[in-house]
Amino acid sequence: MSTPPPAVPPPSVWPETPTIAHVALPVAVSQTFDYRILPTQTVLPGSLVQVSLAGRKHIGIVVGLSTHSEIDAARLLSLEIVHPQLPLPDDIRRLVTFASDYYQSPLGMACSLAAPPLSAQPTPPKAAAEPLLLTDIGREQLNARFTQLGKRSAPAWHALWEIVQTGNVIDTAWQQTCSAAQKKYLRDWRAAGWLVPADHVATATFPPLHTEQRAAVDAIEAALGGFQPFLLQGITGSGKTEVYLTLARNIVAQGGQVLVLLPEIHLTPQFLARIHTRLPGVNTALLHSGLPDGERLYHWQRATEGQAQLVLGTRLAVFTPLPNLALIIVDEEHDPSFKQQDNVRYHARDLAVWRARARQVPIVLGSATPSLESYHHAQSGRYQHLRIQQRAESQATLPQLTLTPASHAVTNNTDDEHHGIAPALWEAIEARLARHEQSLIFINRRGFSPSLKCNACTWEAQCPHCAVRLVLHTKPMRLRCHHCGHVERVPERCPSCGNLDLLPRGHGTQRLEAALARTFPDARIARIDRDSTRRRHAFGALHRQITHQKIDILIGTQMLAKGHDFPRVTLVGVLGADNALYSADFRAAERLAALLHQVAGRAGRSALAGEVIVQTDFPNHPLYETLIRHDYDGFARALLDERRAARLPPFSTLALLSAEARDDNTLNAFLRDAHQQALKLDNPDNAVRVYPPVPATLVRRAGYNRAQIVIQSHDRRALQRFLTAWHPTLDILQARQVRWVIDVDPLQI
Ligand code: ADP
Ligand code: ZN
Ligand code: ZN
Repeated sequence: MSTPPPAVPPPSVWPETPTIAHVALPVAVSQTFDYRILPTQTVLPGSLVQVSLAGRKHIGIVVGLSTHSEIDAARLLSLEIVHPQLPLPDDIRRLVTFASDYYQSPLGMACSLAAPPLSAQPTPPKAAAEPLLLTDIGREQLNARFTQLGKRSAPAWHALWEIVQTGNVIDTAWQQTCSAAQKKYLRDWRAAGWLVPADHVATATFPPLHTEQRAAVDAIEAALGGFQPFLLQGITGSGKTEVYLTLARNIVAQGGQVLVLLPEIHLTPQFLARIHTRLPGVNTALLHSGLPDGERLYHWQRATEGQAQLVLGTRLAVFTPLPNLALIIVDEEHDPSFKQQDNVRYHARDLAVWRARARQVPIVLGSATPSLESYHHAQSGRYQHLRIQQRAESQATLPQLTLTPASHAVTNNTDDEHHGIAPALWEAIEARLARHEQSLIFINRRGFSPSLKCNACTWEAQCPHCAVRLVLHTKPMRLRCHHCGHVERVPERCPSCGNLDLLPRGHGTQRLEAALARTFPDARIARIDRDSTRRRHAFGALHRQITHQKIDILIGTQMLAKGHDFPRVTLVGVLGADNALYSADFRAAERLAALLHQVAGRAGRSALAGEVIVQTDFPNHPLYETLIRHDYDGFARALLDERRAARLPPFSTLALLSAEARDDNTLNAFLRDAHQQALKLDNPDNAVRVYPPVPATLVRRAGYNRAQIVIQSHDRRALQRFLTAWHPTLDILQARQVRWVIDVDPLQI
């Protein structure tokens, strides 16, 4: 993002005693609301307050104070301060203001991103039961306390201390049956890093960094205290995480806080486990939307008060106040999950860069497959490019990659034998089973099969509400829409011709699972997709089974491709990749390349050599050529050339007006009007290009027809000015039957 933060505003001069607070509320209107401050209340800019609006209670943020309101004083309601100690600091208020402006969202909605879930009571996390062991720091601390208290210590405390100080593992049975007081000690000691999962203790040492890691750490440490973005590019397993941990250790030792952003909730436990092993005693806070409100508030407070030294979270964590922030790390920076797809459509990586600049701290964007945006900035010198070319563990080598024709794998539907898996891949899986190594089969489609067709006529199961096919799922057997959630029973006969012969076409994770289970009845097979990991902790449990060698074959969607470390996986099979090769979306190739490089990186991370087999009918596609050479750079440069020629990001900025309506005429009328309004706007040097309305890729979703207008400019500021002028003209079109949104830097077009 090239827009620099605004100059620091002059120290605000507040009236002697403000009596009115202007409050931003999480409602979709671009205005603030005034409330009366009682003489007994101390309200500051950034104060978190509870107010009522139209009879409903909301948590809001005070964005301004004054002595008068345009509203009749008698009609003003008063407010309640919910968190007196913690007004949101200046940098967070500036960050949400920027997000509101840049992403064309009401300030109140942007503010709500920074507001913690204050309606809950802060509650320390209930960690999933794992055997726990005392760390050295924990022993020191507890022994010191014992020396101090001796026999006066509480019996519950004492009993627990006796177990841990002798080096005994606190097993899960003990954890479940101990007293409530002891459960609380366990939680507190865990949060403090005194107890860690016993699994991890054996590796609790820092390996000596290799040359490239050392160089990266040195460069980043030299930049501490000022703004400098880094792109840390290193293939999976090259030791980037080890770089982060070394930096964190040194920064934390000097009293600084480190913010680490990860794209996926599921990646946080693994990362946390590594922090606990490498950095026992470091206080961590975890922030993501999967936590119960009370837990999130607990973590948020510890981050905000400066107690938590390392703050780990998904995109929303970018809004966490951190008084001692010294470094920001965005791992897997290329991941599309950093972009929020509803409400305020912010990109957490881009906001993180903005925040790093505003706070004058360095930021590290790490990836094996950098986004083209970051790659471009690294090439042009705006970001400092750090590379790790070698694999960390000396024996680990890059996997051997082969392509095998996908069409050979397509079975006619009466022959269930191959189920979409090519012969070469079957053999490879068999060989792994014989050697007791793990295989990972990657297919980016959940469910049994992506379509159900009639064998006699042209009927195919379609979603009644969307322009897509229904996906067949088993357990229970249902047809499901992956876009609107529609579910229906599988018809017994073709609704169109009455034929009884309905056939699933194509393959999803469930179908592969079934086929593999039939062929290899003794193999232990696990499936990882959104369906199998819906319950909290389900992913963690599967993950533990995998690392503990309780699984032989893993089938999964892209959830598996992201940064997970499975050392015993020596074979990766990729199915269905061709679907994305020739997509209408200009980012599809970039995403596929990133995904394939990531999946390929899953193989051979330890001393065992890895093999990757990709099923494709387009072996000459440049993407595969660079994949075989493990040359992401070559691919990125080629794509950047294409983007430059087509003036696509990062060589221009895009925004999208997406609209949907039940009625096609209403939709078209709205977009026609919006388009006309856009053409009327001041557009110096024609810096902004407005394209005519076109249907969206998914033309109908959940009963709504969808279309869009693309806006493009080579000048980000010009685009911003343009959107800011355009937005209010859309508001007054009064298109009540139309739902619309402006998406700045959209990821999907
Ligand atoms: P990345 O984050 O780039 O995928 P990791 O930091 O997870 O890589 O490192 C991959 C593996 O190599 C891990 O098991 C890690 O402990 C190990 N490792 C990393 N750096 C070193 C090093 N300098 N010496 C030995 N092992 C290392
Ligand atoms: Zn039919
Ligand atoms: Zn649907």
